[in-house]
Amino acid sequence: MKVYQCDSCEYASVSNKYRCPSCGTGQLHEQEVSSKGSVYSYTDIHIAPAEFAHLAPYIVALIQLDDARAKVTVRMNAEVSIGDIVELDHVENGAYVYRKC
Ligand SMILES: [Zn+2]
Repeated sequence: MKVYQCDSCEYASVSNKYRCPSCGTGQLHEQEVSSKGSVYSYTDIHIAPAEFAHLAPYIVALIQLDDARAKVTVRMNAEVSIGDIVELDHVENGAYVYRKC
């Protein structure tokens, strides 16, 4: 997956911006990194927004990527615990769906 890494500070994100929102001066550079990471935090969603209502209940997790300082918000296809190793399963309507390794 793509991450955008600042050239002058520690900032990294999965969404591209014109300038680094952290230091305000750096340029973000696209980098292709592994989708693999570990679960940083997660939440069970029982009351979902209308477009995801058919999926509820589901688990949304914040993943710390192994190869970048960026974290990415994903939907899990299985129950997870903090620290579990996970990777990208597929992309659905622009959303990352992850599974346990
Ligand atoms: Zn920066």
